[in-house]
Amino acid sequence: METAIEQQPRIRNFIEAVITKNRLAHAYLFIGPRGTGKREMATLFAQRLLCSQPDHPPCGRCLECRRIARHNHPDVHWLRPEGQSIKIDQVRQIQKAFAYRAQETAWRVLIIDQADTMTPQAANSLLKFVEEPQPGTVILMLAEDRELILPTIRSRCQELVFQPPSPGHLKALLIEQYGKSEAEASLVAHLTADVEEALNFCQIEWFAELKRVVLQLIEDCLRQDPRAVYQIQDAWLKVAKEKEHTDTGLDMMLFWYRDLLYIQLGMEDQIVYIGQEERLRKQGLSLSRVKIATAMEHILEAKRRLHAHVHPQLLLEQLVLRLQEG
Ligand SMILES: [Zn+2]
Repeated sequence: METAIEQQPRIRNFIEAVITKNRLAHAYLFIGPRGTGKREMATLFAQRLLCSQPDHPPCGRCLECRRIARHNHPDVHWLRPEGQSIKIDQVRQIQKAFAYRAQETAWRVLIIDQADTMTPQAANSLLKFVEEPQPGTVILMLAEDRELILPTIRSRCQELVFQPPSPGHLKALLIEQYGKSEAEASLVAHLTADVEEALNFCQIEWFAELKRVVLQLIEDCLRQDPRAVYQIQDAWLKVAKEKEHTDTGLDMMLFWYRDLLYIQLGMEDQIVYIGQEERLRKQGLSLSRVKIATAMEHILEAKRRLHAHVHPQLLLEQLVLRLQEG
């Protein structure tokens, strides 16, 4: 099974190349959403530098490698938010620790996890550290949002962008590593690229309930049931209490219509709602491809309006009316 870092071969090769050619920068910024392997890659980076076995990639078994993996290597420091943010005192403490020579090895590594949570004071304090590099020190900053990193720090780092896994990768990961069913993994892997969020979707109550509401609503719309519009207030908004939930609900809807299209095109192996083929086929009988495409446009428009802060009830009710018009 592929681990998160095996899905980032480009970055892995890049790190290998700079270390082999001895062209290490002083600081790197790992940018990417959760679940893309930034922490694993930082660990691997440190192991690659400090592993006591000459072979690469790092052995993972020697004392250095094991201590790095357990986060208790004296020359590999992790800086993490205390509470909501990384604070200036934490940065000062680290700088003090780095004022002395490496304790045991030729390299010292500072890994700043969630670097985008640094307070402005902490970031300014770190800036001096980044500006005046000490030989043998490598700083790895891990962040989801590059815009939250001080531009003066950013400009002194080499940026490495971690791409989220494809739905296919994530689906396989959820099935093989987390024992999720194919039907469940297929849907959540299309709704998020983040492993943690995908796992959360699998167990959180509103998600399963919203899926039920969404599928019922589509059914009612297709049957031209005049009561469909009441489902918004009576069912949808009772389950989807946050704007993000409604956004997810609209995505669920979008994938259902896309599946209707796939069924019509004979591309059943592409569908997201595995196990619902019968229902999809039945619904697809009465729909033209143009109608399906128009419905998808309406759903995308509803998503745009949601992001433009239109009230969810208003945009959902209008969506239902449009879907019924066909
Ligand atoms: Zn090793």
